[in-house]
Amino acid sequence: MKVAIVSTGEELLTGETVDTNSSWLAAAVWERGAEVRRMVTSGDDLQGVIWAIEQATEHADLVICTGGLGPTEDDRTAEAISAWTGVERVEDAEALRQIEHRYASMGRVMAESNRKQAFLPAQATIFENKWGTAPAFSVEHAGSIVVCLPGVPYEMRELFHHHVLPLLQIDEPPTLVRVRTFGLGESQIQNMLDGLDMGGAVLGFRAHLPEVQIKLHFPFSVKSAERTLVVERVCQRLSKWVYCVDGGDLAETLVGVLSDAGETVALAESCTAGLVSAWIADVPGASAVLEEGAIVYSNESKTRAVGVDPNLVTTHGAVSEPVSRALAEGIRSRSGATWGIGITGIAGPGGGSDTKPVGTVHIAVAGPNGVFHQHAVIPGNRGQVRRRAAGGALALLLRSRPVGPLDG
Ligand code: AMP
Ligand code: MG
Repeated sequence: MKVAIVSTGEELLTGETVDTNSSWLAAAVWERGAEVRRMVTSGDDLQGVIWAIEQATEHADLVICTGGLGPTEDDRTAEAISAWTGVERVEDAEALRQIEHRYASMGRVMAESNRKQAFLPAQATIFENKWGTAPAFSVEHAGSIVVCLPGVPYEMRELFHHHVLPLLQIDEPPTLVRVRTFGLGESQIQNMLDGLDMGGAVLGFRAHLPEVQIKLHFPFSVKSAERTLVVERVCQRLSKWVYCVDGGDLAETLVGVLSDAGETVALAESCTAGLVSAWIADVPGASAVLEEGAIVYSNESKTRAVGVDPNLVTTHGAVSEPVSRALAEGIRSRSGATWGIGITGIAGPGGGSDTKPVGTVHIAVAGPNGVFHQHAVIPGNRGQVRRRAAGGALALLLRSRPVGPLDG
């Protein structure tokens, strides 16, 4: 099935809003084995929207449009569909009822301007929007199905799942397996996988700081047992750099692993200043594993909050192996958590020296079997150093456990 994506909105053309809808839709469609042939973007002018729809339908059986379904004058997708199909718009009683119901459920009265959102091309199939006010709809014309979704990303995604997925006709869906790694760059992974028998899988990469995902796209003809063998081969080759297969990100994986084991973690973060704790807290169920997180940015706070011996800082510097170990051990013993994480580093752009350049990071994980330490000089700007250091801390804890996420 060939798919095209249309995004509309003046804010996309001015660069004010990044067109995340198109990229999200493209990934969602592509992962399910349909082919995205075109992405077209227009402003809010009627001719522009019609042009975009025409361009898209020329190349696709299914066109997914986002944006332009709001109550304001600048939202003109329904009008454009009506002009393109030559089918009049009429007030759709069911759509109007849904909008009114939505407002009533929020304890509000529908504004008169929202009535416009129920003014849809006659014969359109209406999709109830339980996540916002704009009803979505689809029409069939000139050999294509055109689905119109709201621009608000959250609403768009929900409506896609509920109403567009069933329209994606894929005879032989390929299988996508994601091997998630931390600590290697794409080119290093490519080199390590060179010469490996991929059993017909097409290899792709997705670098999403701080991790790199390896995408193994298996054609329909490759059976499940063969797929498993290939995935095992890839994991073996990349060994400790793999932290999970087809699971969540580092924080999700860690929360899953720790909560399964009934273990907890506490953190003393200097250069990451709560980033790791926040990532863990983002995961539903974090309360079962996250004991506490201390931001120990100044030297004094490292002593005050976690009990780091000030002599360690004077002798070795705040960014040093002994201080990272003391942070991990200190927060672990004070909190009573199973695991203590200590992170200290130089995020830059200032503060570096010949012996400790910008990007120098010391991470320690204290646990039941002692303290594991890792030192790295992380490349990149301040944000990249901090995110990579945060990823490094999560990965070090996953690797410090006797049973890795892949063994259990
Ligand atoms: P609309 O449905 O056109 O009224 O869009 C509602 C809001 O959704 C806009 O104000 C934008 O913030 C957002 N939005 C619209 N189109 C996109 C897009 N392609 N990607 C990301 N956000 C969008
Ligand atoms: Mg708009």
